[in-house]
Amino acid sequence: MYIFKTVHDLQHYLSTQKKQAKRIGFVPTMGALHRGHLTLVERAFDDCDVVVCSIFVNPTQFGEASDLDKYPRPIESDIQKLEQLGCSVLFLPEVSEVYPKDLLSPSIDLKGLDTNMEGAHRPGHFAGVVQVILRFLDIMHPDFLYMGQKDYQQFAVIKYVLQFLQSSVQLVRVSIVREEDGLAMSSRNIRLSPEGRKKAVLISKMLFAAKEQTASLSLEEVRTRALAFIAQHQLELDYFTIIDGDSLENIDSFDKATTVTACTTVRIDGVRLLDNIILRESIQKL
Ligand code: AMP
Repeated sequence: MYIFKTVHDLQHYLSTQKKQAKRIGFVPTMGALHRGHLTLVERAFDDCDVVVCSIFVNPTQFGEASDLDKYPRPIESDIQKLEQLGCSVLFLPEVSEVYPKDLLSPSIDLKGLDTNMEGAHRPGHFAGVVQVILRFLDIMHPDFLYMGQKDYQQFAVIKYVLQFLQSSVQLVRVSIVREEDGLAMSSRNIRLSPEGRKKAVLISKMLFAAKEQTASLSLEEVRTRALAFIAQHQLELDYFTIIDGDSLENIDSFDKATTVTACTTVRIDGVRLLDNIILRESIQKL
């Protein structure tokens, strides 16, 4: 696996690959890699000849400097995992490489996609995500971009931005990779106490039940039952919402959207655990 730290070296390598008509896939991450991340890299090899994974803890998407400083950076084990997987390239830039002083970043109106759910708890977060993804796409010009359904709102925001810019990059949504008991894999899970870890399984239990109920219940009933489950188990809720999977607006009936998604964030041991499930998807998209 090649490890490039500069834009120049990465671009030089990619230009030789593109001259040989190789298809380039890109997997952006912030490191502390787990099986969820690695599945994105594996999935990328289904479509691409060359897969670039980036590890970059993007300062512009963090509200508080302390969160940024605390973000885990186990770089040696990350490199090992990517090497074992046969990843082609790791892009590992410094902040100054991604954001040189004279860089102009486009500002895109996200039409409210960035204000509810995670956006309500992390103002400015999605502007930072869009900034870094567009910067990376501008550096690499990949054919495919792979992102996890795990961060549903992030995926929807980037999907909107790529459509808005009429980008030729093909965005691929990769399903959530879960632990055996159903907990969505996340680098935050290691911060849970043994008790908290047991409790965390309730989140996916609630979402799986909601999905099952869609066969026989109305959306309002599904929502009511999920909220009752949350109350019964005394889960500390940031939000539970059933939305149009594209506009991210709350909806009150299943037939109001092509994709209907239930999104939630629950706090356990002070750790914000995000999860979601697609309740219905009429057309197979992305
Ligand atoms: P992060 O390093 O947290 O920025 O995540 C990098 C990418 O991995 C994002 O596209 C995430 O949605 C994706 N990802 C994180 N956890 C999972 C998971 N459990 N299953 C699938 N994709 C994931």
